[in-house]
Amino acid sequence: MRKFYVVGNLKMNILSREEVTQYLSVLKREAENKHYQHVTLVVCPPFLYLSQFDDLPQGIAKGAQNLFSEKSGAYTGEISPVMLKNDNVEYVILGHSERRRYGGETNEMIRGKILAAIKHHMTPIVCIGETEKERRAEETDRALELQIKTLFSGFSKSQAERVIVAYEPLWAVGTDVVPTTGEILQVRVLLRKLFTEMFDAETAGRIVILYGGSVKSSFLGAVSWEAEMDGVLVGRESLFPYELVKMMGLFEEAAGKEL
Ligand code: PEP
Repeated sequence: MRKFYVVGNLKMNILSREEVTQYLSVLKREAENKHYQHVTLVVCPPFLYLSQFDDLPQGIAKGAQNLFSEKSGAYTGEISPVMLKNDNVEYVILGHSERRRYGGETNEMIRGKILAAIKHHMTPIVCIGETEKERRAEETDRALELQIKTLFSGFSKSQAERVIVAYEPLWAVGTDVVPTTGEILQVRVLLRKLFTEMFDAETAGRIVILYGGSVKSSFLGAVSWEAEMDGVLVGRESLFPYELVKMMGLFEEAAGKEL
């Protein structure tokens, strides 16, 4: 059965509990009484508000935006995978370009976080992507290969297929510049080839791959199913819950047509 994902990354937005309540009331109103068979929406609010994101409508799950690779201890300001799991978090975004840029996260650090998420039964959504400079120098493939090989180094097949990869070209995040369907498809093909070499074709076929970067519902097909992607990671548009629910509907419809 064809399955899609919409991941909404709320980032460091929504500044009070009251605003969260408002956001949730729209999300619930838009999604209630609908049944989603082919799409899951993962909403990832700031840590502080995670506990408000319980009792979500069918088809919607709760995600976090980061975690620390240790279970507990003297790690001021960090958040434990166990804390997240105990708060019903099912998914966690890892290695977002903003965490790499502002938090100095390296592929090696992110690899440790992926393993921690898997160990504690959450699904890691791992961001990769080339910079504008790398793209101009035609080094996209090399940059992505380096990231994938480090992030998945030493993983078993069963660990690898638990990971969701989000291809987010850095030049498309927050810019309103979007790659063509052909460019995204090329990355899809590259990732499938890399995963086949590292694991096998079956495992490569099971690894979910999303596109992220300036996604809007008006061109959802061009950046997702037309490019053989399994869904999207959405930044700014996720601040509009009705847009996320609209995307769920579009994926549900697209999956229905494929049957
Ligand atoms: C992101 O930050 O992951 C993202 C995709 O943002 P935007 O949709 O705003 O480009």
